[in-house]
Amino acid sequence: MNSFIADEAELAKQLFSIQVFPDVDSHALNNLYALIREQEDWFIELLQQYRLNSKEGLLLMSLAEALLRIPDQAGIQSLFNDRVQRGDWYAHSSNKAWNQLFAASLNWLSEHSSNIQHKQNLFEKISQKGAIEICSIFIDQMSNRFVFSEALSDGLIRSRDLANHESCSFDMLGEAALSYEEAEQYFQSYWQAIEDISQYNDCLDDSAHQLSVKLSALHPRYEAAKIDLLQKQLLPKIKQLCIHAQLHQVHLTFDAEEQHRLEVSLNLLLPLLTDPELKELSIGIAIQAYSKSALETITLLKKTLENTDRTLSIRLVKGAYWDYEIKRAQQLGLKEYPVWTEKQLTDANYLKCAELLLKTQQQNPNQLQVEFATHNPETLLQLEKLRQSLQLPALKLQRLHGMGECQHRYMAEHFNTITRVYCPIGARSRLLPYLVRRLIENGANSSFIYQAHQRNGEPFIAKQHAVMQSLEARNYRIPRPADILTYQNSTSWDLSRNQHFELIDKAAAQQSTEQNLATTCSLHELNINEHFIPQPPASRTFILEAWADEMENSLNLLLPLLVREAGKTYQDALDEIREACDFCRYYAKQYRTHFSQPEHCDSITGELNQLIYKGKGLALCISPWNFPLAIFVGQIAAAWVCGNQVIAKPAGQTPLIARAAIQLAYQVGIQASGIKVVEQPGHKLINTFFEIHNTLPDLVCFTGSGAAAKAIQTELAQLSDQVIPLIAETGGQNVMIADSSALIDQLVPDVIESAFYSAGQRCSALRVAYIQEEIWQPFCQALKGAMQTLITGPSENRQTDIGPIIDKKAWQKLHEHLSWLEDCAEWVASAPPCQADEANSGHYFSPVAYQIHELDQLKQEHFGPILHLIKYASSDINKVLHDVAESRYGLTMGLHSRNQSWIDHIVSHAKVGNLYINRTMTGAKVGSQPFGGHGLSGTGPKAGGPNYLHAMMNEQVISTNTTAWGGNTDLL
Ligand code: NAD
Repeated sequence: MNSFIADEAELAKQLFSIQVFPDVDSHALNNLYALIREQEDWFIELLQQYRLNSKEGLLLMSLAEALLRIPDQAGIQSLFNDRVQRGDWYAHSSNKAWNQLFAASLNWLSEHSSNIQHKQNLFEKISQKGAIEICSIFIDQMSNRFVFSEALSDGLIRSRDLANHESCSFDMLGEAALSYEEAEQYFQSYWQAIEDISQYNDCLDDSAHQLSVKLSALHPRYEAAKIDLLQKQLLPKIKQLCIHAQLHQVHLTFDAEEQHRLEVSLNLLLPLLTDPELKELSIGIAIQAYSKSALETITLLKKTLENTDRTLSIRLVKGAYWDYEIKRAQQLGLKEYPVWTEKQLTDANYLKCAELLLKTQQQNPNQLQVEFATHNPETLLQLEKLRQSLQLPALKLQRLHGMGECQHRYMAEHFNTITRVYCPIGARSRLLPYLVRRLIENGANSSFIYQAHQRNGEPFIAKQHAVMQSLEARNYRIPRPADILTYQNSTSWDLSRNQHFELIDKAAAQQSTEQNLATTCSLHELNINEHFIPQPPASRTFILEAWADEMENSLNLLLPLLVREAGKTYQDALDEIREACDFCRYYAKQYRTHFSQPEHCDSITGELNQLIYKGKGLALCISPWNFPLAIFVGQIAAAWVCGNQVIAKPAGQTPLIARAAIQLAYQVGIQASGIKVVEQPGHKLINTFFEIHNTLPDLVCFTGSGAAAKAIQTELAQLSDQVIPLIAETGGQNVMIADSSALIDQLVPDVIESAFYSAGQRCSALRVAYIQEEIWQPFCQALKGAMQTLITGPSENRQTDIGPIIDKKAWQKLHEHLSWLEDCAEWVASAPPCQADEANSGHYFSPVAYQIHELDQLKQEHFGPILHLIKYASSDINKVLHDVAESRYGLTMGLHSRNQSWIDHIVSHAKVGNLYINRTMTGAKVGSQPFGGHGLSGTGPKAGGPNYLHAMMNEQVISTNTTAWGGNTDLL
């Protein structure tokens, strides 16, 4: 599939014309909007009252997202205090009594939240309890609105209340499964649901109920990289379900999920259409029109169907993960977004897909059935117009439970449409992400509900036409991923696309070659140029950018080296190449913007004072093996662009990567006299340097262990009467703290990625997770299950999560610590061991998690996939912070909570360089997350930050008397 990276405007021009939006009956449209406006609906009222673009709307949404899952009363109360005090709840008036009651309760809580810590009198206690109770009921009702029922049996009974034109597609509310155990539970619930629905369908005379299935609920690693595993483990399960459904004559529809799962879904589902055991199979697939590859997907399905005698139903939706898709593309630096950025283009694509589907259905009604899932009045009427023009029977529609009722009723009454209602079934604690998606959908300014309430009689279709006419097909608020930063964001490949992965795989398979790499020397062979003259500043910045381009274009060279020499997985290797490019471009931009011209200082008349920056002289850059490209290049790029002569010493474990990077640097015009690479053992490096060259560097830029940094500092102090600047970036004892409002489904994957990915060999990696006691048990259980899905093995395997440990010495040190843990700590969870046949090909260490009691039990950083867990009581949070500070490390910290006051409290006390909130704590982005710590973790300034280049240069002030020649032209 190529369309997903196609230029949006180009693709739009190719696919659409203005006719894609047929004019609709304006009378019908007005009626539809009037119906929406007039419905008596407290929930819609509430969304109008607290709009999502208002502070209060967002506060309410975040309260709704977290409240239902918090297990402890203190946590609930604290979240209420935190959220309500930030809003002005009377600012948005409502004339409905129930919403006024809600506003009054929120307002009471907000006014009294500051007293909460103090002793409350009886009246206050009762009022507070009452107000919280009222708000909780409202929030409970909000979530209730979108869940059809908690149990399918109740859902089937409730289905009797639906209107005549409606039947159900039940969804067994599952977001992605985290563990095999969870996936099995979902499988069982789908299995049972098939039987229950079938039994119920037997009693129906009209349209039968169906079942919607989410593949990500059926396997904990439903990812493109795991396709072989999925073929082996998931495909048989899907087939079993299909046979079961076939036997019970229940139609299954496979839901559409994120775009990075599209290819994997098709790979798994298409074979079902030709499977001889599934001759009577009745299945459907949902297609998302916001995807730029939707038409291509439909064409592929059409082609597959042509060679079978099966029927497939397609449910055309607009798509529910749009914001996620935009963020992911930016994060990965993809060339383009996989989805349309402009809403009107999604609408256009929807109609274009609809046309293709309806025409296909017209040609071959036995092969394709189509259902249109939309609540949007324009789209509904446009679809109807399309149907009429093709003279097809009445449309089949779909709506979500809790939405679109009146529009669909109108369509049924006027155009005989029938509707299937998508009915989520399940525990509400599992519903929260679904609830938020619905809230955003209903509450966004672009939603038709908002449009309906804002409606002033102008034709809405005008905007659609305007977009088509100008084909201004880009949403100007969403620049391309390459253009989102103040410097050019590095581009990357999307490993979830087979096409991309194959390119990467091919690159990685190249023979690593030592030929054609830059030559390096030992300290003895090093020739220091005492009369070094840097290349001109302007060319230095351009050359640095060219170096980035060259690295980006040299995957064939860099990728195999990163995978083989440093044991990086494909994704880690790609990320590292990107980071190296980012450093070059960022420092080039920084130098050009801030240092290439003299800075004018305050001056009296007749005087010119200028501040200029000059390289310090000789810069020695010492880098570690764990980021053998990014840190190596980052240090050099910064030092060199500032006009220093650079001597770079890579880690002994990764010399080839260094040679390759420097080879590319020379290729783009960095003179060999400007950067030299020495391969030399680290031990006593400074002493050896001095002994051989009888001089010392003017600056040492070091990243590595604290012990080595200290040794360098001592040697420099002993050998020089000068204070030689040392920038040292060292290790950390990084902690994450989660309170009871954390979402375990989010927390566990973030813990796993932070602690175990890159085999825990990142300085920022999570070492100790503090978990509040109320969520300790479910957290440990989820962690245990999720760790069982991790794959440790050779990094060349696409499906490997955890690659090797860098060398035997490091591996042995981890085993020593493991022995200590076995004696002194309590085992919590482990990942499966590396496959026996692979175990001998490297130093593999499968992730483990142990419970310890105090941070103080750890005396040093353990550089591998070992996670320590500590259970804490919320009342002890200050002791936790004290213990963390006492460790004197200050690199990274992660927080998981929905309580902003709690977060603020920790942020104000935490003495760490980088804090990550509700996300993973690794993978700092150059320029966005300048990186580095303090205390035992380093000296600063932060790499990839605005102050780094300052540290590479001396300042010089030049004061000129501009009147010396006899006159002051300034005053003329
Ligand atoms: P290390 O200290 O053993 O080696 C780092 C570099 O220093 C290597 O090139 C090594 O040869 C050299 N070296 C070692 N001893 C030296 C000495 N006495 N004089 C001069 N050079 C010396 O570290 P490592 O094992 O390569 O890397 C892992 C460590 O680096 C971990 O502690 C990790 O936390 C830290 N690290 C920190 C950051 C950060 O940004 N703070 C980033 C990456 C790694």
